[in-house]
Amino acid sequence: MGQESDQPRLTKRLRCCVCGDDTADASDYVQITLTAEPSAAQQVLGAHAEHLNQILAPGFSVEVHLM
Ligand SMILES: [Zn+2]
Repeated sequence: MGQESDQPRLTKRLRCCVCGDDTADASDYVQITLTAEPSAAQQVLGAHAEHLNQILAPGFSVEVHLM
């Protein structure tokens, strides 16, 4: 077991942090990584891109990049 990169990469989808619904079938699922400088703490959130756009301030938008 080697050292993973410091970027958390979850294999399981998280629930949408906006609506709380399961995202297993979501086509616009996005993962957000929050950092708390200067510490190395990271918090990962999942969300539907559409819902995320609804709570972001004007001017911010989320793009979905399908892998
Ligand atoms: Zn949602």
